[in-house]
Amino acid sequence: MEQLAVINPRTGQPDHAITPATAEEVAAKAAALKAAQPAWEAMGVGGRCAVMARWLGAVKAKAAEIGEADAHDTGGCHTSYIQGFITMGNIGGWLEDAPKAFAGLEWDSMSTSMPTVRVQSQVVAYPLVGVISPWNAPLMLALLDAVPALFAGSSVLLKPSEVTPRVIEALFETVAEVPELAAVFDYVAGAGDVGQAVIAEADTICFTGSVPTGRKVAVACAERLIPCNLELGGKDPCIVTESADLDRAATAVLRGAVYATGQVCYSVERVYVHQSVHDAFVARLVEKAAEVRLNTDNPRAGHIGPFTHGPQADIVAGHIADAVAKGATVVTGGEIEEIGGGRYMRPTILTGVTHDMAIMQDETFGPCIPVMAYSDTDEAVRLANDTQFGLTASVIAGTAEEAEAIGRRINAGGIFLQDTFLTFAKLRTFGSDSFGWSGYGAPRIGPESLRRFLRRKSLLTQTGAPADIRNDHHLGDKA
Ligand code: NDP
Repeated sequence: MEQLAVINPRTGQPDHAITPATAEEVAAKAAALKAAQPAWEAMGVGGRCAVMARWLGAVKAKAAEIGEADAHDTGGCHTSYIQGFITMGNIGGWLEDAPKAFAGLEWDSMSTSMPTVRVQSQVVAYPLVGVISPWNAPLMLALLDAVPALFAGSSVLLKPSEVTPRVIEALFETVAEVPELAAVFDYVAGAGDVGQAVIAEADTICFTGSVPTGRKVAVACAERLIPCNLELGGKDPCIVTESADLDRAATAVLRGAVYATGQVCYSVERVYVHQSVHDAFVARLVEKAAEVRLNTDNPRAGHIGPFTHGPQADIVAGHIADAVAKGATVVTGGEIEEIGGGRYMRPTILTGVTHDMAIMQDETFGPCIPVMAYSDTDEAVRLANDTQFGLTASVIAGTAEEAEAIGRRINAGGIFLQDTFLTFAKLRTFGSDSFGWSGYGAPRIGPESLRRFLRRKSLLTQTGAPADIRNDHHLGDKA
């Protein structure tokens, strides 16, 4: 099979290559994983925890290298360098939480409707979980699904994005150090066709990526009648009220919108500000945006890096051009800067935007902050909910109570009050759903995230005498 070149986002030049798996190779790996999975499941959650603890040790020893590989893939996103540690947190958290997620499913009791029948529960893992992951946060978004699936007792076949394969290669060096895990956790390199080959073999799919690809994945899963979990894009709003501390609001909005060059599913993508404070808010935002530095000289310095996937810059430029053509003003930023072969964009603030512009409707995935004025709270809520998406939303108000009252009216899975970007705070404790086009399936954090990979069985034992059809007189037949 011909190799696929992998571009370095900082130079725009290929400096790596992958060999895409053929459909036969995907099928062979899937078969090997399925063959090893029963022993993995039979270990019980305690046995699996012991293996995963050894993997945690292997990841710890290579955490810095994993971070470097992630930064190489993304172009130097801040979170890249800590991905090894985030992975350790993910595995370590499930070491504590996985046994509890199983305990909640144990059931052994007498039936209330048929008192002589004993009811026992049994849970069995889907044998093979296929995970298809995107190029943004490439390690974290692959492992958010893969790790709980492994703890659940499934085997996992991962198909990472062809744009960011380096960090997955680094990760699998740690997997190779734990043979019991390597038997049930593998990956295949390649593009969309390899993703489809994984769907053809898996028993359930977890996909993170864009809406158009998510649709293709859902259709392919429907053809096979296998369940799928989709985590798709967002167009996340932030409401800033008249009473808000504008300095606080500008700080939170700027970070929420431009962190990782805006290439985060729960980035702030639309801002609604009360008309009485609109101009003052924009002025503060512009001031703060001017202090954001690009990491052109050193990936560890500066605040934001290049676009991880160069062509994404064209999508962002297209949204800005569409907005300007329809009457919006670019207050600051707005240009793609080609520096050393990388494609960069400074924080880009737009005013005079309306909901007939792509920048207010479609996922931009760039460091853009379109700001729109609203006149009263009902209008702000209506605008925030005027979207196909519903991943997260933020509200910044004079008091937490005021923010909460507004947040409760917004249709999205994660509502951040008095700040943006609070997703990490809820990891492990409580899963939330994604609304609209942002997702499909069970929550991917919290106990439900592990239980997505389990099928529940009930074992019903008759402890009394079986019912005798000759004694059935329910039709009122006295004969
Ligand atoms: P894509 O949808 O382009 O790709 C996602 C994955 O699917 C990649 O591995 C891709 O492979 C693969 N793929 C492409 N075509 C197919 C196909 N026909 N069948 C099966 N698999 C296929 O997303 P991006 O990589 O561009 O990621 C960015 C998107 O992900 C954004 O929309 C973002 O919002 C979303 N996202 C959502 C998150 C959430 O939790 N809701 C979190 C993070 C990102 P390849 O790349 O090799 O072509």
